Amino acid sequence: MDRILIVEDNQTLSKLIAKKIQASLPYEVDVAYKLSEAKLFLKKYNYFVTLLDINLPDAPNGEVVDYVLSKKQPVIVLSANIDKDFRKKMLQKNIIDYVNKSGVDDIKYIIQTLQRLEKNKEHKVLVVDDSMVFRKQMSGLLENLFFKVYSVAHGEEALNMLQTHQDISLIITDYNMPVMNGLELVHEVRKKHNKNDLCVIAISSNNEDEVNALFLKEGANDYINKPFSKEEFSCRVNNSIEALENIQLITNHANRDFLTGLYNRRYFFENMHEYIENNENDEKFAVAMIDIDFFKKVNDTYGHDTGDEVIVQLSEILRTNTNHRDLVSRFGGEEFCIVLKDIDQANALAILERLRAEIETTTIITHKKETINFTVSIGATIYNEEDGLDEAINQADMMLYKAKQNGRNQVIMQP
Ligand code: GH3
Ligand code: MG
Ligand code: MG
Repeated sequence: MDRILIVEDNQTLSKLIAKKIQASLPYEVDVAYKLSEAKLFLKKYNYFVTLLDINLPDAPNGEVVDYVLSKKQPVIVLSANIDKDFRKKMLQKNIIDYVNKSGVDDIKYIIQTLQRLEKNKEHKVLVVDDSMVFRKQMSGLLENLFFKVYSVAHGEEALNMLQTHQDISLIITDYNMPVMNGLELVHEVRKKHNKNDLCVIAISSNNEDEVNALFLKEGANDYINKPFSKEEFSCRVNNSIEALENIQLITNHANRDFLTGLYNRRYFFENMHEYIENNENDEKFAVAMIDIDFFKKVNDTYGHDTGDEVIVQLSEILRTNTNHRDLVSRFGGEEFCIVLKDIDQANALAILERLRAEIETTTIITHKKETINFTVSIGATIYNEEDGLDEAINQADMMLYKAKQNGRNQVIMQP
């Protein structure tokens, strides 16, 4: 587990911060009250982040900061000192942030900062600048915020990098560059990636006001004027990343069924239309409708909550018995639709039959310790381009009806 070191001689405060961190984040927290104690901890451990008071009994002028930085540990400075020059001097060091520690809101800010840093680890950022000095400076600042950083010298290299790392979250680009400038780069990037899956921040000089407007019109999310302060840079970067995460969170909620976490009907159609449109090699795929047999009886016997548990367990079985390209969705109630990609009639039947047998032989133990066995009926068809998706689902539904009529617990594929 990652560790946090708090060095703070005010015991009430350090214990409070430690408690708040442990309540909301998965870290071990060490607390030192003096520089000499901090040194002992630093001999033993590496830290995810250290939180350092600059006024300690044995180090009254921020000496702890230089010491911890010399041990290559990330630093957030805690301070009650509002002296502007001192603050500026501290910020010039390679620290993550300089935060106040006077009130409850400040502790909240510290927790939020740690949560932000933890999430930043998941994000890749691409720096595009022809000046090696600026590239290094920005990369350093971003690495300090725990981002995974790539850097290139102009727009064309950036496009190549984006091709190999499609999951880049943020591009920070200069304007004037050889081969392809920042504006051209944003124009190209936005042909493929909208603001919902990739942020762009433009860096421009103060005397180029109209360039900022052009950047925003091309689809940049934000801009930063050169020269910039470390704090402004960090805040703008974190804001953009946070906005991106929020959009992705909302999109995910809109696409998924609340009970099971499977894709919902709305996403199913949206995703399948896109897939069919791009299916240039005419890959074959099967559409299958799955419905629990006599599910009403489960609800009537054990109650609705247990019924819900059965639905959740079934969705787990569907998920684990299909592969990652297949689409598993809950259409509603106890009815599921799955699409098996790149498959022919015989193989689809074999997979669905295996799935049916797996469900039949699985005994569910509910949280009330009831043991429940259940079966499903499955109707399926191979998609036919001329008939379209709605007709494929309709055909699968008819086969499902047939399976029910035939006595349930079986798979029927359209011949
Ligand atoms: P059949 O074998 O013909 O499919 O019989 P069945 O009882 O499964 O079919 P029927 O359509 O008559 O009943 C489905 C039941 O599923 C009725 C409804 O109360 C229940 N149901 C629908 N959605 C949910 C849900 O989200 N949770 C629970 N617990 N039950 C649900
Ligand atoms: Mg102090
Ligand atoms: Mg049913």
